[in-house]
Amino acid sequence: MENNRSALASVMLVLVTLAGIFLVGFLIFGKPASLQVVPQVSAKGTPDQILQLLKDGNGRFSAGKSAYLHSDPARIGLAGISDQGNYAYATVLSCSDSRVPVELLFDAGIMDLFVVRVAGNVCDTDEIGSIEYGLAHVKTPVLVILGHTRCGAVTAVSQAVAGHGHKLERNIPPLVDNIIPAVKRAMELHKDVHGEAIVSLAIEENVWQAVEDLFMKSPAVRSLVKAGKVKVIGAIYDLGTGKVEWLPQSKIGETLQRVEASPDKETEAFAK
Ligand SMILES: [Zn+2]
Repeated sequence: MENNRSALASVMLVLVTLAGIFLVGFLIFGKPASLQVVPQVSAKGTPDQILQLLKDGNGRFSAGKSAYLHSDPARIGLAGISDQGNYAYATVLSCSDSRVPVELLFDAGIMDLFVVRVAGNVCDTDEIGSIEYGLAHVKTPVLVILGHTRCGAVTAVSQAVAGHGHKLERNIPPLVDNIIPAVKRAMELHKDVHGEAIVSLAIEENVWQAVEDLFMKSPAVRSLVKAGKVKVIGAIYDLGTGKVEWLPQSKIGETLQRVEASPDKETEAFAK
């Protein structure tokens, strides 16, 4: 009995000592490495699985529960020796706006997203080239065309189209000219809507305009989408809530069909 008791006491002492060491280690060094949750996305999933990953990430971000994945020194070290094509899971075209931090809003980190940012998230030659690289070489199964609420570029073009424009620096008009058809279409479709409200509608039209411009000029992207290797999706990020609104997938298919029927589309997939 006495022996049992002293054996039990010894075991308890060892356990208490181990717990103490663990606690002191935790207080000094933070979370032990073995407890860090670092989901690996090295084997990329299907486009739908990737889309769910993005939705879950935005859900955590907008709820104030970001996990700040893939942002630690270990990930930086991994990036230094890796081919991003084995890791990055989505290409994102987004506006340059400082209120639209792409990795943060999807709770993603280093080597997760191939990001193309340009004022007004327009899709012109350089952006399309970057997207082709993201899809064909970095091999991301998803492309997100991400507009955002209160976009300054779309607002400025809306004002200009309505006749209230102001002087622009010389390189801005060729940048924002891709937005003009989107604004005009929003105004045509909603003749009774003006001011701030028309800007919101133009922001969505501008996402569809980018999709159309991309399909018109990139036979390579059309092929990847038709083969089911890549899913393109439109979305709008709300600056005030942090939430991404996912736009109807059916519009992508309709746009692709319309472009396929157009005699003006580019047909040579490769550069000469
Ligand atoms: Zn913007």
